[in-house]
Amino acid sequence: MNKATASKVIVTGGCGYIGSHTVIELQQSGFDVIVVDDLSNSSAETIDRSVQITGKSPVFVNLDLKDEKACYSFFKEHQEASGVIHFAAHKAVGESVQKPLMYYQNNFFSLINCLSAMHELEMNNFIFSSSATVYGTPETLPITESEQTQRPFSPYGNTKKVAEEILEDFIDSTDKFAAISLRYFNPIGAHDSGLIGELPSGIPNNLMPYITQTAAGVREKLMIFGNDYPTKDGTPIRDYIHVVDLAKAHVVAIQRLLDKKKKKNYEIFNLGTGIGYSVMDVIQTFEEVSGQKLNYEITDRRPGDVPFLFASTDLAKEKLGWVAEKNLSEMISSSWEWERNFRNKNK
Ligand code: UDP
Repeated sequence: MNKATASKVIVTGGCGYIGSHTVIELQQSGFDVIVVDDLSNSSAETIDRSVQITGKSPVFVNLDLKDEKACYSFFKEHQEASGVIHFAAHKAVGESVQKPLMYYQNNFFSLINCLSAMHELEMNNFIFSSSATVYGTPETLPITESEQTQRPFSPYGNTKKVAEEILEDFIDSTDKFAAISLRYFNPIGAHDSGLIGELPSGIPNNLMPYITQTAAGVREKLMIFGNDYPTKDGTPIRDYIHVVDLAKAHVVAIQRLLDKKKKKNYEIFNLGTGIGYSVMDVIQTFEEVSGQKLNYEITDRRPGDVPFLFASTDLAKEKLGWVAEKNLSEMISSSWEWERNFRNKNK
């Protein structure tokens, strides 16, 4: 795509973990990017870092999409954008159990305000950031997109499941609007530049940042939530995927919506590698790539954790022509590199 034909894409939550990596991949694929983020769980510094990586500055707007009027004005101002990728949402599972109303209010209002503004302004291409959590405890593995969704364990997970349903109902009511929901498995890793990565606020919920923070001395030890699952070593199996691979899938998804011959009203794709690794596999690989022993202890199971979760990747391969390329060692070494860079800078 050359400059004259560059399409503009709006990325909500573009300063967050997956959003920021997607901004970079979009820019490197020739898109002009407009980032909207309220910085509630991210920093505008991410924008400067992406400029260092790509040499291109996205437009940045600091805005809370829950504010209906402000949201509409923002979309009106950038009406020429050819698509929207919607990441902006709260995402901490534990916090969502403590503050369900905050999660429902934030994740639904921002989605509905974006869809309403787009509808009014006849902006028609939408990518939704969903999650494998919508599968609940799956009946069959690997999980295909046609698997029945189940009520997720957490309010956070439920916002993803219900948001998909809202999106489907909205699509059924219009003839022009088209959307793709991307169901992420377990995104980990960081950009090769070491400049951007995952930066959870407070105590991490997720395994990978907990491991790197423990190794960096920020946390005392990793607690492994149960080793009595019916898996090879007793710890749960997940499908970890490199965040840059995930970001690239968003680029092909938006390209699909912009291609009149390929675009469908609504499609759903799993984004994973299709390979399952246990918590112990992740720890072992971390110890190999970092050359460092990790302090950990086995504790009770975490409520809501399922023993196995890994994706069927056939549909994404067939329709999007996308497959994840990076292996577990690459994912983990990039996470570790990012953590070390970040800690060194902030000493
Ligand atoms: N996990 C763990 N200790 C932690 C965080 C996670 O043992 O401090 C385990 C968790 O039980 C699950 C796996 O790591 O089996 C991945 O958890 P994560 O929260 O990263 O992702 P989830 O699959 O729950 O979305």
